[in-house]
Amino acid sequence: AREQRWEMHVRAAADGQRIVHLIDRTGSYATDRIRVDFVANASHELRTPLASILGFVETLRDEAGDEPAIRDRFLKVMFDEASRMRRLVDDLMSLSRIEAEKYRAPDRSVDLEALVEEVRSEIVSTHNGRASDLIVEIGELPPVTGDRAQLSQLLHNVVGNAMKYGRPGTPVTLAVRYEAGPMVRITVSDEGEGIAPEHLPRLTERFYRVDSGRSRAMGGTGLGLAIVKHIVERHRGRFDIASTPGVGSTVTILLPREALSSKRNVLATQAA
Ligand code: ADP
Repeated sequence: AREQRWEMHVRAAADGQRIVHLIDRTGSYATDRIRVDFVANASHELRTPLASILGFVETLRDEAGDEPAIRDRFLKVMFDEASRMRRLVDDLMSLSRIEAEKYRAPDRSVDLEALVEEVRSEIVSTHNGRASDLIVEIGELPPVTGDRAQLSQLLHNVVGNAMKYGRPGTPVTLAVRYEAGPMVRITVSDEGEGIAPEHLPRLTERFYRVDSGRSRAMGGTGLGLAIVKHIVERHRGRFDIASTPGVGSTVTILLPREALSSKRNVLATQAA
């Protein structure tokens, strides 16, 4: 339930009566609230690894620095914490860049088939060893009008989540299909622990996590799906996540195919 905010203006009418105007400010209040919370959360998320790095530097300087085994262990923790800060800053920058471009629709023709193949090989090489198998099913596809770098990030985030939260040894399936109509359908399914229904509507909120310990242990920033949501919105697409606890989750993304008659798109294809 969101808090109601009313603004009241009172003025005197000619006959001495008072006229009261009530203006509903609930919407803008909520937007302010989200912004304030976001800055507070981002600062907290950055401060935690920073505090840990400073703590380890202090300890190394004081005593533990003389003992090579301890020093190496501390350096490893510091490296991991600094890497986590860098991932956070990268994601924060991505979010603000995507938001800044919100009103400028992407206008390039993107070959999804080539993009999916590129993302597949990048994911397979980074998740090397510890990951589930990634199965890619791809049909005959029309080009979509999009921002290639952002669509790559979208695929990385969604497939990355399926690999992170899927049960080890179970497959992750990335399917891209076009049947008819204006939209190309991307689905990513995993056989992980799933997500309880009460969490589903909130997953695209910044820093919302079902299990923060788990997310952190997996190297998550809590911003992945917020970024996905913004990319989908900028592409005038649709995003949905369905899940059955104990069985797995399926993320569905619809992206508009390139309009056949659009002259601008033809030019973009030639330029690309
Ligand atoms: P994170 O960096 O924590 O993974 P995301 O924004 O990508 O952040 O996802 C938000 C939360 O949604 C995750 O912390 C996790 O709890 C949940 N989640 C996302 N994808 C899945 C999935 N495929 N299976 C189970 N839980 C998921």
